[in-house]
Amino acid sequence: MRVNDKELYVNEILGLLEQEYPQARTTLLYKTPFQLLVAVVLSAQTTDKQVNKITSSLFEEVSGPDDVLSLGITLLKEKIKGAGLYHQKSQQIMETSRLLCEKYDGVVPQNRKELMSLPGVGRKTANVILGTAFDIPALAVDTHVSRVSRRLGLTAGKNVLEIEKDLCRVVPTQKWSSIHHRLINHGRQICQARKPFCEHCLLKLYCKYYTENKELPKI
Ligand code: SF4
Repeated sequence: MRVNDKELYVNEILGLLEQEYPQARTTLLYKTPFQLLVAVVLSAQTTDKQVNKITSSLFEEVSGPDDVLSLGITLLKEKIKGAGLYHQKSQQIMETSRLLCEKYDGVVPQNRKELMSLPGVGRKTANVILGTAFDIPALAVDTHVSRVSRRLGLTAGKNVLEIEKDLCRVVPTQKWSSIHHRLINHGRQICQARKPFCEHCLLKLYCKYYTENKELPKI
């Protein structure tokens, strides 16, 4: 595919995704960057719906890291025990809160390197915080973004870093955060892991997976 053809092809996909999912934002509920950080940590192996249920009560008492330190590990565990891996997550949230208070005056840093130095914060979480809480261009690659972008043929990357690099190359910078949310929506609703609903997919004409797997008409 020539550069201009590739650009056109990506723009068509972005346009269709924008039409279908105009609200490109996280379904996690939060009011402060710290609350978003906690919600994203809790969301590992837990649905956003369940996280929102947990945080609706937790965030009445916790808006910043100092509130977590005041709460203490025992109460924190009690409050988040509806989340998977809550023992591990409570340790991570507690340690992150301590570091934020000691090193960053209780403020969530706005750069990837410092975010990734916090316990439980990997590259994907850091990118979600940058793009969603601070509007800093960053493209977070999770399981949905990975699967959908590979099926579409936007990347052949073998790991999340390669996929992120490929997507950042073809998607305009100002759309990095919104494409993350839109691909997640599409992955949850249509391009599901076990059985993608290709016949109902608005992207099928542009999709490598669909083109390669659709049955040829019988003559
Ligand atoms: S056509 Fe199928 S595989 Fe391609 S993006 Fe749509 S649902 Fe996913």
